[in-house]
Parts: sequence; structure tokens; C-alpha cells
Amino acid sequence: MRVETLGQTEPRLAIVGAIHGDEPCGVHAIEQLLDEQPAVTKAVKCITVNERALDQNVRYTETDLNRSFPGDPDAETYEERLAAELLEELQGCLTLSMHSTQSDERPFAIVDTIDSLAIGICPFLSMQGVIETGNLIGQTLVHHTPVIEVECGLQGTDQAAVNAARLVKEFLTITGALSDVSVEQHRVPTYRLRERIPKYRTGDCDVLVRNFEPVLAGTPYASMNDRMLVAEDRFYPVLMSETGYERQLGYAAERTGTLG
Ligand SMILES: [Zn+2]
Repeated sequence: MRVETLGQTEPRLAIVGAIHGDEPCGVHAIEQLLDEQPAVTKAVKCITVNERALDQNVRYTETDLNRSFPGDPDAETYEERLAAELLEELQGCLTLSMHSTQSDERPFAIVDTIDSLAIGICPFLSMQGVIETGNLIGQTLVHHTPVIEVECGLQGTDQAAVNAARLVKEFLTITGALSDVSVEQHRVPTYRLRERIPKYRTGDCDVLVRNFEPVLAGTPYASMNDRMLVAEDRFYPVLMSETGYERQLGYAAERTGTLG
């Protein structure tokens, strides 16, 4: 894990990249920020987390880090030890953690619940939605520290890296660390995960709908091994893709409101 601090004071802000090693956008954003060395009025910890997985361009080496929190310094697997090390490093910090996805090119945020943090920050980040996970996605970072997790765009694309750099600047502006960037407030729809949409581990599947757009009851939304999946009731697909997860297509969510 590589930790560098921008600014002189005790950091109360952190930006995090490469919790998943095959999602390099956050690392590009961190490198860009460290190259530019902008004058910050609050110190910022910049953390590249899973360097081992990053070097191999894999999501993780032993266990999925973002399902391994809170971790344990004496655990057998590398990622479980790394989870504990990261939480220690993030103590006392408000954090932006950057990911990328196979589901959608437009940035969105993932939070534990819509709390004052999400309400205060998300409308100032360029994003198309905020997803509340509840407890449907395992032991991720959002359950253990004050963090906004952002999916910056499609995995491995230049656009995701550009988006990540912009989200970092917006985050550091709204939290008062940068003062020479202007941010606009947007209206951001919120969604809550309702259920997983499972998939067969082998065979063909096709997602037939677009993430964040409502699927009406009776509409076919995916095909798996030539079998059509039809919506029983209305839902919003989120994090849906053919290849993003091994055992699921994504999630069915509900619209819950709008921030900003
Ligand atoms: Zn990720």
C-alpha cells in the first residue's frame, strides 16, 4: 500500500485508488494530483491500496478486498491484512474511494445509507446517481468508515481516468481542501438495492436493458442460455453487466428520491 500526503497538516481527507487492482482509474487520478501538487488548505492522504493486484492487473490476489473489511492484521490472506491496514490509515479521515465498473460509463456513487455525508457531498460530484447498498453487498469499505465510493466509468478506459481526476477535484473542493476549482450543485437521483439478479456461471448471457432506466413489469431484461428473464415488477437495474460479476448480473433497485 502506497500512502502519500499532500499538504502539511494532519490529514482529515483521503482519496483512495486500486482497492481493486484491475480498476486503475483512481491511481491515475492520484498520480495526476501528486504531479500537479496543487496548493491545498487541508492535507490529503493519497492511498494506492492493492499494489500487488494492480501490478498483475487482477481484481484481487487472494480474496476480494472490498468484501474483506474490517480485515485482520494477522489474517492468512494478503487482502484481509490489507483491509485492516487501510482502515487504520483512514481513521479520522473523510474518504473518496475510486472504482470502475463494467456496467455503465457514467459515474455514480455507492454509499451505505443516504446520510449527511452523502447529502452534503454527492450533489457536488459529477454523477448520475447514488446507490444505497443496505447490507446487500457484503463487507465493503462503506460499512466501516465515512466514505463515498464512486464508480468512475468503464474499467480500463481513459474516460474513467478523466472522470476520476474530475471527481477528486470536486471532492477536494466541496470538502474545503481546494479553493481554485468551482463546483456546481446537481440534482442526483438516489436508488436503494432491492435484490441480486443471479446468473449462471457458464453459458451466454445478455443484458437487454440500460442501467438506471426503469424496467416495467413484464419486460424482458436479460437472456441467459437462451432463456428470457422477464421483470415480475418494476425495478431499476444497477451494476448490471454480462461480465462484471461471476455469479450475478447485477442488482434490482428502487428509486428513493433526489439529492441536491
Ligand atoms: Zn471496484
